[in-house]
Amino acid sequence: MRVTVIGTGYVGLPTGVGLAELGNDVICLDVDEKKINSLKEGKLTIFEEGLDSLFEKHSKSGKIKFSTSFSESIPEADLVILAVGTPPHPITKEADMRYIKQASEELAKYLSGYTVVAIKSTVPVNTGDMVENLIRKTNPSAEFDVISLPEFLREGFAVQDFFNPDRIVVGANSERAKALIADLYLPFKDRCPILYVKRQSSETIKYASNAFLAMKIQYINEMADFCETSGADVYEVARGMGMDSRIGAKFLVPGPGYGGFCFPKDTNAMAYMGKFNGVDLSLIEATIKGNEKRKINMAKRILDMVEDVKNPTVAVLGSAFKGGTDDCRESPALQIIEIMLAHDVNIKLYDPEAMGNTKAILGDMVTYCNSSYEAIGGADVLAVLTDWEEFKSLELEKIKQLMKRPQIADYRNVFDFNKAKELGFDIRSLGRI
Ligand code: NAD
Repeated sequence: MRVTVIGTGYVGLPTGVGLAELGNDVICLDVDEKKINSLKEGKLTIFEEGLDSLFEKHSKSGKIKFSTSFSESIPEADLVILAVGTPPHPITKEADMRYIKQASEELAKYLSGYTVVAIKSTVPVNTGDMVENLIRKTNPSAEFDVISLPEFLREGFAVQDFFNPDRIVVGANSERAKALIADLYLPFKDRCPILYVKRQSSETIKYASNAFLAMKIQYINEMADFCETSGADVYEVARGMGMDSRIGAKFLVPGPGYGGFCFPKDTNAMAYMGKFNGVDLSLIEATIKGNEKRKINMAKRILDMVEDVKNPTVAVLGSAFKGGTDDCRESPALQIIEIMLAHDVNIKLYDPEAMGNTKAILGDMVTYCNSSYEAIGGADVLAVLTDWEEFKSLELEKIKQLMKRPQIADYRNVFDFNKAKELGFDIRSLGRI
């Protein structure tokens, strides 16, 4: 099948590469010339485990091509996938649809022969109708169907999730479009359920799922706060809760708040849709509020640890919003760092993959280090803000020798809590004392 993916970011690029691996002829199209030139030169623009080898394989085989030209990329396509950003509107926090609209109007001009336009971006309910109308208005004679094809991949596991999805959700009102999608996903037939639903249901499934997951994180974070006042250990509590199959063990890990490009914007967009439709979505609103407060609270706890220090230095491990990705968008780590900077704390920072993206945001406000131990040297507090696997192998004995004061704010549970205490660290974990 000939597939054009519009938007070559954290979703579009792994999707394009994955579809090429399944045997399709893929064009990844983006308006960002720098990005496309880099990809044409064989340089990946994002970090995702396992993406590099498949990208190299299919760039060489010619199964995947890169372009900035709609006129060259759309006419031949059987399937056009929209994977452009839907960032939050700066004031209302509803999903900003400008990129979807621009791309829809532009692609409409070049549709030729029957084409399925699949919306993979996370979009408000009834966007399918809006895109359909835009295309029809721009190109009244076009033969096409618009479907909703939401993406559920986890950043850091994008390739793994592409090939092993829990489910594929397809919101389609046309049998012809369903048949094309069934053909595309034939290799997944025995691997996962493919759920065909109404377009509006599909659009809602994505937001409802993300809001639910964000709520689950906020819930265990609140339980962590409670455990700190009661003597319970939140990790034991989470284990006990997670063994109940009605609850499930995933997303019951306390942390410094959820972040990334999806949960913050999708919870806000869902809350906005609730308000707009006159529906009380108070659980989602409480989740958003709780998560905002949490990041401030996390920063305050570190500030308390350096209250008596003149010109304090905090070593921060991790700036990506979670381990396994270089994505810093809405990273709790960055928000915590910014609060500390506002309180004149010196920051020495290390992240295994996100240094480039971090520099683009924080500039020269922090000291960038080449390793964890370099960041830790001479620090008054060590704050672990991202759950990178490599932080788990750091040696507490060595850390103690390097630090000015043996204080750790371990917000990602990377250290052996009891051992750190035995070694004389003042270690503040989450959800246990
Ligand atoms: P991104 O910002 O990484 O990539 C979006 C790309 O779209 C950019 O490269 C941008 O240049 C391009 N673009 C914008 N307007 C364009 C246009 N008119 N024509 C062509 N290209 C255009 O965003 P992302 O993280 O890949 O997210 C894309 C969508 O997928 C969003 O709606 C997001 O909510 C959703 N989503 C993201 C994730 C995730 O983990 N990042 C997961 C599931 C769903």
